Amino acid sequence: MDPLSGVEPQLGQRKSGLEALEEKALEIIRERGDEGIYQHELWKALGLDSREGSRLALRLLKKGLIVREPAVHNGRRTYKLFLAKQEKRQVKLEVRIGGAIEIPCFTCRHMEKCYVGGFFDPTTCPILRRWLDAKTTAVKKALGRG
Ligand code: SF4
Repeated sequence: MDPLSGVEPQLGQRKSGLEALEEKALEIIRERGDEGIYQHELWKALGLDSREGSRLALRLLKKGLIVREPAVHNGRRTYKLFLAKQEKRQVKLEVRIGGAIEIPCFTCRHMEKCYVGGFFDPTTCPILRRWLDAKTTAVKKALGRG
């Protein structure tokens, strides 16, 4: 019998739209490799206007994730964007009390009867095991070791 049926751990949090956009931009720039991409091409691919696109590029530049080089395209001065050679990985390890709420034990109806050696035992609990495995996988993936 699964002692914890009905308890669904909540894993992770949704990325903000900004983070998702940055990741998409990095993906596009990465695909271009050494050729790079004109910034207006990136804005177009992302559906951004030049103002939004410039802000995005500045954020990525500030984070050291991309580099840009002056270029001329159709007689107009612009920039070409490249992935930074040492692209910093965005690894977020947040330790917040809000995060502790994700731990399945916090919402488990058996928590008060759960102890090592008991019928409900954290050392053999499948829900806790699955949650820990998912967290471990997520951290390894974020560190590029998954
Ligand atoms: S370890 Fe105990 S409290 Fe945590 S989910 Fe399992 S049974 Fe519930």
